[in-house]
Amino acid sequence: MEEIDLEMGPGYEDATHFDPVANQNLALISVGEHGLKPTPRKKKKVVKRWRDEWAETYKWAYVSVHEGSHRIFCSVCKEYGRKHRRNPYGNEGSRNMQMSALEEHNNSLLHKEALRLQMASRDKGMGVIERPLYVKDMTRQWTNEGYFQHTVSSLSILSAILRRDPHEMEFIQSVQEVVHSLEPVLTKYPQYVHVLERLVEPERVVIFKVSWVDDKGEAHVNRGFRVQFNQALGPYKGGLRFHPTVNLSVMKFLAFEQTLKNSLSSLSLGGGKGGSDFNPKGKSENEIMRFCYSFMEELYRHIGPNQVPIFDTPSGDIGVGPREIGYLFGQYRRLTSQYEGMLGPKGIQWGTSNLHPEATGYGVVYYAKEVLTDLHRDLKDLRCVVSGAGKVALYAVEKLISFGAVPVTISDTRGYLLDEEGFDRVKLSLIREIKAHNKNLREYTKSYPKAKYLDDTKPWAVKCDIAFPCATQNELNHADAMSLINVGCQIIIEGANMPCTAEAIDIFRKSKIWFGPGKAANAGGVAIQGLEMAQNSSRVQWTAEEVDMRLQEVMKDIYQKSMKAAQEYGIGNPEALLHGANIASFLRVAQAMLEQGCV
Ligand code: NAP
Repeated sequence: MEEIDLEMGPGYEDATHFDPVANQNLALISVGEHGLKPTPRKKKKVVKRWRDEWAETYKWAYVSVHEGSHRIFCSVCKEYGRKHRRNPYGNEGSRNMQMSALEEHNNSLLHKEALRLQMASRDKGMGVIERPLYVKDMTRQWTNEGYFQHTVSSLSILSAILRRDPHEMEFIQSVQEVVHSLEPVLTKYPQYVHVLERLVEPERVVIFKVSWVDDKGEAHVNRGFRVQFNQALGPYKGGLRFHPTVNLSVMKFLAFEQTLKNSLSSLSLGGGKGGSDFNPKGKSENEIMRFCYSFMEELYRHIGPNQVPIFDTPSGDIGVGPREIGYLFGQYRRLTSQYEGMLGPKGIQWGTSNLHPEATGYGVVYYAKEVLTDLHRDLKDLRCVVSGAGKVALYAVEKLISFGAVPVTISDTRGYLLDEEGFDRVKLSLIREIKAHNKNLREYTKSYPKAKYLDDTKPWAVKCDIAFPCATQNELNHADAMSLINVGCQIIIEGANMPCTAEAIDIFRKSKIWFGPGKAANAGGVAIQGLEMAQNSSRVQWTAEEVDMRLQEVMKDIYQKSMKAAQEYGIGNPEALLHGANIASFLRVAQAMLEQGCV
């Protein structure tokens, strides 16, 4: 008895000919001596375990371009369409197992969506994606109560974004994570499908030219951005980033994350983000001042109490600290004659809350503490690997030290520093001094010769209990996630925005590693800014201790809200923190959007 090869049937190159029912039947047909006859159903039973494994593996796919059209490629067989339906396991496994897998493959939502997208892309003539996007888990999702199917509506929201902005990889990645988490919400409350469709489109995007002159008198031009993403909950709020990698995709992803983060922090704040592809590194004080002045010359039109929108309050992010904010505020004040607390973090003497600079880094550690409390554990003596050596990373290290944890690494764009004995306050001051003078972290080893510095390497292969990625987006990929698991890491808490790739998060999920997403863990900064607005409007200044106490309460509340939302939708650990944060934050914005009508 010999089974037929699906490739032999004519006409399957065209996606319109795809008929899952017919293909299912075809897959179950084998050729006998006397012609075609159905394969007995009991074969399915024999391969059940193998099929489950296969289904697990098959949660992986990516989008790429073939002959000018976008397609979802199967990561297992690296093919799509007709070829995609070829047996993904080649000659491995018995013939029966292969055919059974093929049947499941052909009937998966992913496969159908791949074909639908293929058709859509043919109609629209979409541009070319330079690198493949990882499309996460399009078939089904594990919860405590069993598998639930992904809704077609969430797939269509994603495919609409892919069609509209195929080049915006970071934005697509962040939306994809949220849409994935919202599957059970959309199933239970279909009215939110249209809200989500509207939420993923920013309310306003401003792109402008920033011309400035360097110390030698040469003219330069950069691009400035302000994305006003969503104002349903309150004034747009979100920091500024100055970094050469800034583009519209990065701005939109940060503004989208910020919208949800602000919602999760229970404050009446909307979400926005701004920045420029200007690189402050290697620039003189005067050059930075001239750039900031020029940047604000346009930005002031889109922020401030007398403008529409009424408030827009950018604060620091990568490449933007007190110095840049000072120059930006000075120019804003000169241009508008307004002294409203628009920009933070500033000097405390002119309207910033105590603990503002520390809030994000401290908050990350307070959030980790909440996770550990639920696990009946303590931060004391835990080995922590931290990436980054900026505002978030160093304040996180400072707080870890105060809790008796052992932070053993920090890193920057040049490499990472490992001190097996752990950093203490004195060592941290030295690191701050090194970074303030823009020197190499290797300098540290001159004072502490037992420490090691590794060029061009990330710290994720260092033995640890908890990892805190606090540098930048997508700094921790699939291979790094595997390394962390191999060294025994049990908890990942994101200090940066989206530092873990979707593939890395999937590895954590499969390895049952606790994963705290950035939009929850690093919300301390915005929470403090909200408290700061309250202090400014009542003309009071809380002490550092008071602010610290409120910050701890906010982080605890964020953690509990995420867990509660996850529980309500039957999502258990280790995914509860991720999906719970997305669900809780979305529901609050979505409710406000519903109440405000179709605006
Ligand atoms: P920062 O002060 O500029 O520090 C960023 C650090 O990350 C620097 O040490 C930098 O190295 C390093 N870094 C940047 N890109 C890197 C790369 N590709 N590979 C390795 N290291 C890299 O910025 P930050 O304010 O700490 O922000 C860090 C992250 O936290 C960002 O994702 C930001 O969006 C997020 N975040 C910040 C805040 C806040 O209040 N600041 C709030 C919420 C979230 P160099 O020193 O060599 O440049």
